[in-house]
Amino acid sequence: MYKLQNYINGKLVDPVSKSYLDNYNPANGKVYSLIPDSDEKDVELAYQAAKTAFPLWSITPKEKRSQYLLKIAALIEKNLDKLSLAESTDNGKPVKLAKTVDIPRAAANFHFYGTGILHYSANSHSMEDTAINYTLRQPVGVAGCISPWNLPLYLFTWKIAPALAAGCTVVAKPSEVTPMTAHLLSEICIEAGLPAGVLNIVHGLGGKVGNAIVSHKHIPLISFTGGTKTGEHIASIAAPMFKKLSLELGGKNPNVIFADCDYEKMLSTTMLSSFANQGQICLCGSRIYVEKSIYEKFKKDFVAKTKALVVGDPLRDDTKIGAVVSKPHQEKILSYVELAKKEGGTVLCGGHAIKLEGELSEGYYIAPTVIEGLAHTCRTNQEEIFGPVVTITPFDTEEQALEMANSTRYGLTSIVWTENLTRAHRFANNIHAGIVWINCWLLRDLRTPFGGVKDSGVGREGGFEALDFFTEPKNVCIKLK
Ligand code: NAD
Repeated sequence: MYKLQNYINGKLVDPVSKSYLDNYNPANGKVYSLIPDSDEKDVELAYQAAKTAFPLWSITPKEKRSQYLLKIAALIEKNLDKLSLAESTDNGKPVKLAKTVDIPRAAANFHFYGTGILHYSANSHSMEDTAINYTLRQPVGVAGCISPWNLPLYLFTWKIAPALAAGCTVVAKPSEVTPMTAHLLSEICIEAGLPAGVLNIVHGLGGKVGNAIVSHKHIPLISFTGGTKTGEHIASIAAPMFKKLSLELGGKNPNVIFADCDYEKMLSTTMLSSFANQGQICLCGSRIYVEKSIYEKFKKDFVAKTKALVVGDPLRDDTKIGAVVSKPHQEKILSYVELAKKEGGTVLCGGHAIKLEGELSEGYYIAPTVIEGLAHTCRTNQEEIFGPVVTITPFDTEEQALEMANSTRYGLTSIVWTENLTRAHRFANNIHAGIVWINCWLLRDLRTPFGGVKDSGVGREGGFEALDFFTEPKNVCIKLK
């Protein structure tokens, strides 16, 4: 069986322990490769390589660092088919989605920071004829980057690219649930000639590898994307060590639909914001609030469209909904449907596992699910489910919609549908979220800050904010007299 390897000091190597974990294909429930079951010994090797590489990488001219990043971007583009297939096989998502969203975005991340670093600058402050201050921005050191399984290469590279561009060297850990594209990225980095030790990728479990990175005494910065509970644990270790921390965590995003919206645009985009990637995007709008006057129409149309979604083989081009990522995750999602029923909800469609024919009969499929009749305060509407399950709820007034939208512990993103300009801006101003999409969803300008408020995290990724994060400002003050 194919064995993945760690990427340490420029080489693909086995884990020190020589032990491996099973890697499942969610589409058929079968083990298809083996993942290094690494531990703190592998993390230490990766750290030593990153530490040794840092002095030279941090003073490598940015034009040269940029060239490496652009070469990696080009190689990702060249390997689009191979990477998309790997991403789909690891994750269960439709290969078409990987090919049009995940992998192009991974290339874009390297391209964006490979060019962005050339335009990054620091400030100077003049104290008239008394003194001049200038701020140096110096790379922090060895960065620890940890990412989740839902958009595997997209989110992994969203951290690695700015870190490398800023002059940090990196010890990175992809999710053990979807490690394959990170492994292929190692091969790409070798082909691109990235100097040894600049990027190190250690595979394995969060409790072992992730924990070893987070608690490593000499890794001064952690960039983490994943669940809120894990983020809380990481903060409890890293904060007393005074590490620089960026935590991109869970969400329970509202999608607020006013009667004056462009109905057809809203409906087709709401299908995507509800069910793309089997609803396993932290940015999906899983709580749909609809103005009462169009609620019944919306319910009928939305349920009809949801029933028509093709759940099937992720490798087929007509598949809209693939497999969810793992058996335990499938069970978790279905347990929330049961909870919703207990809380008084009515399942309008879906709500059950789907057994496909033949080879795929053991895959982890769930019929896309729409539930109504729940209070906005109940657990189903408060906790992150992270699957193809949405709730729909009518509202009477804008104030009521805002209150329901803001009622969770999360504040990652939000979606608002209205043609009323004043209301759109007012709503955006008042909603508790790091991102507000008005009449659209998932439209991203990579220059803008990305991240959430409340329990959705601290810090921001994206744009020059990420370069600020991976560098430390040092003020130099020169007296003129
Ligand atoms: P997770 O928290 O279980 O795992 C994320 C990563 O952390 C994995 O690599 C895992 O191995 C590692 N990890 C686990 N325990 C660890 C520990 N003790 N120390 C260090 N690392 C540890 O999350 P997941 O299930 O992989 O991903 C789904 C979650 O990610 C959802 O909550 C989703 O909302 C969130 N997410 C957030 C964003 C965002 O930008 N805010 C983006 C994508 C996903």
